[in-house]
Amino acid sequence: MAARFAQIPVLPLDEAFAVTAEFKADAFPQKVSLGAGVYRDEGGKPWVLPSVKKAKEKLHQTPNLDHEYLPIQGSDPFLQLARDLVFGDSSLPSSNSSSNSSSSPSPGSGSGSRSKDNTKPQTKNVISFQTISGTGANHLGAQFLAQHLRPKHVFISDPTWANHHLVWTVAAPDVVQKTYPYYHPASRSLDFDGWLTTLENEAVENDVVILHACAHNPTGIDPTREQWEVLAQLFKRKRLFAFFDSAYQGFATGDLDMDAWAMRHFQTVLFGSGPEPKTETKTKTESETESSATAGNDDEVVVNVQSSTQHQQGHPGLCIAQSFAKNFGLYGERVGAFHLSLPLSVSPAGAYSQLLRLTRAEISNPPLFGARIVQTVLSDVDLRAQWQQDLQTMSLRIRSVRGLLRKAIEQQQQQQQQHQQQQQSSSGSVATAITDWSHLESQIGMFSYTGLTVPQVQRLKEVHHVYLMRNGRASLSGVNEHNVHYVAAAIAEVVAQ
Ligand code: PMP
Repeated sequence: MAARFAQIPVLPLDEAFAVTAEFKADAFPQKVSLGAGVYRDEGGKPWVLPSVKKAKEKLHQTPNLDHEYLPIQGSDPFLQLARDLVFGDSSLPSSNSSSNSSSSPSPGSGSGSRSKDNTKPQTKNVISFQTISGTGANHLGAQFLAQHLRPKHVFISDPTWANHHLVWTVAAPDVVQKTYPYYHPASRSLDFDGWLTTLENEAVENDVVILHACAHNPTGIDPTREQWEVLAQLFKRKRLFAFFDSAYQGFATGDLDMDAWAMRHFQTVLFGSGPEPKTETKTKTESETESSATAGNDDEVVVNVQSSTQHQQGHPGLCIAQSFAKNFGLYGERVGAFHLSLPLSVSPAGAYSQLLRLTRAEISNPPLFGARIVQTVLSDVDLRAQWQQDLQTMSLRIRSVRGLLRKAIEQQQQQQQQHQQQQQSSSGSVATAITDWSHLESQIGMFSYTGLTVPQVQRLKEVHHVYLMRNGRASLSGVNEHNVHYVAAAIAEVVAQ
C-alpha cells in the first residue's frame, strides 16, 4: 500500500491559491495582491458587509437559536429567497420579518422586483438545493447532469474560471469537455461569432453549455442583451442545456435585476413567463411557503402540467449554480444554491429525489450559519436595503478603481514616452507598448483581463511584488488610492520591457 502511495504524482497547487500563498510569503512592504477574487476595501482589508454585521447581531439576539441539522436539501426559506433572487418575484416584503420568517420578499426591492424591460419568468417547476457555495453547486449540477441528462459534451468558455474544467473532470469524467471561443485577443472583445459557430456546428441535443450569468471570469466581458437573445433562441432550437454559473449577481453592476437578466431571459424563452396560475398567486402563509419551497410539491406539478405550452416540449431544461461568496462577502462560509428548472410537462419528483441522494452521499446536509445570515438579510426590509447599498459600495469602488488605474497607467506611459523621446531625439523612435487601456474601464466585475503576457506577469511579481494570474487576470479590488500609482508604474515598466 505504501508503495502505491509513493507512486501518486504530485500535482501543482491550484494557481489562484498558489498566487495567494506566494503573496503572503512575500515580506516586501509595498507588495500588492491582484490574484484572489476577493473584495478588499479602500484600505486593502477584507470587508464585512454592514448588512451582514447587522444580521449577525440580530441572530445573536435571537433566543433559542439552535444548531440542529438542516434537511438534506437545506433551509427551505433560504432556498425560496435564493430562487427569488435569481428569477425575480412579484411580492414585495410588506414589513420587517424575523430571520426565521419564510415570507418571500422580492429580489431587488428598492431597485424594482422585476428585471427591467423583461417579463418575469414563470418558475413553477424549479427545484432548489442548498450547496457548498458556488463550487458545490457546480459540482452537484455536473454530477446530476452526467448521470441523468447524460450529455455527450459539456461546452466551457475559453477562457474560463479554471475550476470549471476540474469540477467536470472530477464530477462527470465521462462527459467530453469542449471549449467555445469567447475572447478575441486582438480586439479585446467577445468572440460572439466564434461562440455561435462552435455551438451551431458541434453541439448536439442535451449537450450542456456553461454560461457565466454576468461579469464573466476572467475576461469581464459579457454578451449584450441582443446577443443573449440570439443565444437563447439557439439553445431552444438545438435543445441545449444552459448551465448558468452565477457568482456575481449584484456585484457586477450593483443592480440585482440587471445582473440576473440573462438567466431570466433564458427561463422566459424556454419555459414561458407569468402571470402564475391563479391557484398559486394567493398570498402564502408561512407554512405554505415553507412547504412549497422544496418545489417537489406534487400539487404544483399538476397546476404546471395544465399550464404547459407546446413549445416547452422536448427541451431538457436549464440550471443555475448560485454563489453568495462575493455578493455577501461570505467567502469562507460557503453559502450557495443549485436551481434546476425543468419543462412544465416534466414531474420534478424523480430529479428531486436523485438530488437528495447525491447531496446525502456528499455532505448529508448543508451548513447552517451562512445560510442563516443570507436568509436574515433577504427577509428583512431594512437589512435588505442595507445590503443593496453594500452592493453599490463594492461595485462602485471597483468601477472607480478601473478609471483610476487606467488614468495612472496612461500617465506613466506618457511620461516614459516623453523621456524616451528626449533620449532618442536623433532617431525619433519610441518604445512600442500597450497604450490603450480603455478595456480596464469597459470590462465589468471583479476582474480585468489586462492583456499582460506571461513574462510581464512574471516580472511584475519578481521585480515589483505585484501578484496576478498568469493569464493576465487582475483582481481589481487589490487596487486602491494608496497603491494605484505604484501598481500603474509597475505595469508601465513591465510593458515597456
Ligand atoms: N464560478 C465562478 C465563475 C467564480 O468566479 C467563482 C468564484 N471564484 C465561483 C463560481 C464559485 O466560488 P465559490 O465556490 O467561492 O462560491
